[in-house]
Amino acid sequence: MATAPRFWRENPSRYNLVGIKCNSCGRHFFPPRSICPVCHRKSVGKIERVKLKGEGKIFSWTEVQEGPEELSSNRPYIYAMVEMEDGLRFTGQVIDCEPADLQIGTPVRAVLRKLSEEGPSGVIHYGYKFVLRKEKSP
Ligand SMILES: [Zn+2]
Repeated sequence: MATAPRFWRENPSRYNLVGIKCNSCGRHFFPPRSICPVCHRKSVGKIERVKLKGEGKIFSWTEVQEGPEELSSNRPYIYAMVEMEDGLRFTGQVIDCEPADLQIGTPVRAVLRKLSEEGPSGVIHYGYKFVLRKEKSP
């Protein structure tokens, strides 16, 4: 019987990169939640789900030599903190690039990628990773 992976069904926000906007303070948050962590009770009824563009800039990064077991197939890898539009900060793996390609302010975009696969049962976890946004040379 083919069913959607559990992770997808339970976390559509991860798949769609959906966050929230609090219409009380105007801030964005990810992942979605029902109460604004800044406004608390004032935000009740003022939370709106928004699809994030997923574009941001490298804020800091590190090259990780020893990753968790499930990432062993692609180690070493680059793990970065990314400042997104709307003031959000994401952390995640940056793929398809070398450390030398990165600078503070390098534009990146979040993409959905397979994160890991659990044994023969084939439960696949998806999440976002980052790729460089190609900018035209001056
Ligand atoms: Zn708020």
